[in-house]
Amino acid sequence: MILVTGGAGYIGSHTVVNLLNNNNDVVVFDNLENGHIETINTLKTIGHIEFEKGDLRNIEDIERVFSKYKIDVVIHFAAFALVEESVKNPAKYYRNNTFGTLNLLDTMLKHDCKKIVFSSTCATYGDLNYIPVDEKHPQNPISPYGSSKYMVERIMQDYDKAYGMKSIILRYFNVAGSDEFGRIGEWHEPETHLIPNILKSIFDKDKKFKIFGNDYNTPDGTCIRDYVNVEDLAEAHKLAIDYLNKENKSNIFNVGTENGNSVKEVFDICSEVTNKDIPVEIASRRSGDMEALYANANKIKTVLGWHPQRTLKDSISSAYKWEQNHF
Ligand code: UDP
Repeated sequence: MILVTGGAGYIGSHTVVNLLNNNNDVVVFDNLENGHIETINTLKTIGHIEFEKGDLRNIEDIERVFSKYKIDVVIHFAAFALVEESVKNPAKYYRNNTFGTLNLLDTMLKHDCKKIVFSSTCATYGDLNYIPVDEKHPQNPISPYGSSKYMVERIMQDYDKAYGMKSIILRYFNVAGSDEFGRIGEWHEPETHLIPNILKSIFDKDKKFKIFGNDYNTPDGTCIRDYVNVEDLAEAHKLAIDYLNKENKSNIFNVGTENGNSVKEVFDICSEVTNKDIPVEIASRRSGDMEALYANANKIKTVLGWHPQRTLKDSISSAYKWEQNHF
């Protein structure tokens, strides 16, 4: 059985759909602080899942799950993920993302479960010396969020050496899109991400879309990111589990498309896909934003055989379908 922590959240729920499509037995663990019970209910209409409400900060909650089910492998998404909030409230991030993960790992060891796939982030690299960024780039995270994930990466490497626990660390770049049928999608409160903010501004005139800075040193002056489709990203987790089962080895992979798209380019594709004239305002830079960031994803392509199947336009189309269904 596969335990998915944070399975009621954005990337977690899409990965659950992928696991169900591949005939896996799945138990979802989520405290529903950022995840949604509606998402769990939708997942239950797609396939059979067990749902356990609980919090990683309470080791008894995790112990209860491991005592109830025979867990073979864990996919660990549950985390807080707002960079700005992490600067203001680092304790929340270290307590949940780092200490909570230690509770999970120790419970896994107790029950002899020694395989885990971990959602890490390109935020662990910090300021970049070069792009496209590969897995060997030095890691100097600049936010408590990035640090809380980086610490877990180090803990996992130490747990392999000491206890033989095998981990696949996936460092995500930007994530976009939704389930192809629009059943589940990106649902954050508050929403801070680019694509949902552009699309939401179509439905809610009070949410006028703002471009945060057009004076960057990039071809059109706006920031560049690497947007990977959420269903493609879900597939990377499936391949990571296959690798763990076959090779029984720890490894680390970037998950990105290797394409950089500017904020203006994303905005233009949103206008094209939705066929709407979306109002836009140029605002000042958002603090902490990096100018340009995209992945070298050669390693995951060669070692796991992962290849992105969907374009940015596909992601924006599915995200729009979700926004239409949801609002
Ligand atoms: N962005 C923007 N307006 C928004 C949200 C985001 O201009 O309402 C820009 C942001 O400054 C960054 C890019 O879009 O350059 C991607 O931001 P997002 O928050 O989606 O992801 P991040 O790269 O920060 O993880």
